[in-house]
Amino acid sequence: MIRPPFKLRIVLLALILAILSSCAVKPKPQEVKKITPKIKVLLGETNNLDSLSFSNDVILVAEEAQYELGPNNNTIYIKSTDQGFKLFNSNRIFTFGFNDSLIISGSKKPYYFTYHNRKYSGDIILTRQTNNPIWIINKLNLESYLKGVVPAEIPTHKEIYIQADKAQAICARTYALNKINLNKSKLFHLYADVRSQVYGGLNIETSQGNSAVDGTKGVVIKYGANLATIYYHSTCGGMLESGSYFGSRDNQPYLQPYKDLLGNDFSCSASPYFRWQKQFTFNQLDSIIYARYGKGIKTIIVTDTTDIYLRISILERTAGGRIQKLEVSYNDTTFELNGLDIRKFFTDSRGKYLPSTMFTISSIDDSTVVLKGGGYGHGVGMCQYGALSMSEKGFKYYHILYKYFRGTYLEKLY
Ligand SMILES: [Zn+2]
Repeated sequence: MIRPPFKLRIVLLALILAILSSCAVKPKPQEVKKITPKIKVLLGETNNLDSLSFSNDVILVAEEAQYELGPNNNTIYIKSTDQGFKLFNSNRIFTFGFNDSLIISGSKKPYYFTYHNRKYSGDIILTRQTNNPIWIINKLNLESYLKGVVPAEIPTHKEIYIQADKAQAICARTYALNKINLNKSKLFHLYADVRSQVYGGLNIETSQGNSAVDGTKGVVIKYGANLATIYYHSTCGGMLESGSYFGSRDNQPYLQPYKDLLGNDFSCSASPYFRWQKQFTFNQLDSIIYARYGKGIKTIIVTDTTDIYLRISILERTAGGRIQKLEVSYNDTTFELNGLDIRKFFTDSRGKYLPSTMFTISSIDDSTVVLKGGGYGHGVGMCQYGALSMSEKGFKYYHILYKYFRGTYLEKLY
């Protein structure tokens, strides 16, 4: 019998043992490290000159190169050039081409940067894409971002509101994660203003807002296997709106129209916008129409009473009773308004849009139109005044969320 050399026998034995042990021991499930996601928020854009300042030393990373900017270089200016953009301070100048990007990070703690008088944590990404302004992007931990969102979106100054604040934190987190997934390949995920959700950075943080975020860390709203589509608004006025208000893709089972009741009362009846009334005189409407369409009293010669003709008709209402389509006929001009455009059309003398599209139209005399309405905002998803009132009455954040997103569930992702 030919026996393998001793050394080889040892190796073979070790191999057999290794195979046996791997069969006997059930493999451990691979532990996925749950990391808090990073979010990229567009803070601002400039076509000309802008500046950033730093509370401590920073490093600037561009391509392969890294530069240190010491404490004497506290403010740095950003300026567009014919070839792209440049950064400069009293000591140095850095030039970049179109589509280049660079990151500025704090290298010593405590650190924050200041942009347009607001303080922010995290990194800054600067880039200028061809035919675009320079983008100033804040890249930071999602949870830190949320601390700069919650107090901007809901009151956090009363302890009794903590449950509504937690519900808001979960809504904002779910909304942001949807944006991160949707815009994965883009240079930024969302805006810092009402185009997405309002983010005010470190200046607006409150201790209760921070507790609402920390106390719900990683918790999101899910439906089936996916993150739920999230909408929220100030006041529904007693009737929640269908997600189809934003298009058929948002017509989710958990975003359907129903009365926002709490016992026998409407949840948001304490809101100053629960019911409202606005008046527009003929002269005001004439100016609005003239500004938009160049048609108005100034463009016609009046020879008869029928020469001036104004009619506003409701063509279509949504499932929740809001006005979807409005027709305005003014002399020889007829135009249709939809959704948010209806609110913009009835902008008052102080420049404020109409609070909502849930209203009726009447007139008190020949020259005054009266709009009687309810609610503030689109009415889809969580009604914030309703949430505040539930919080005051002792409901928990999950009661609030299950009420406004029926059939969904909460999951802690990290
Ligand atoms: Zn409501």
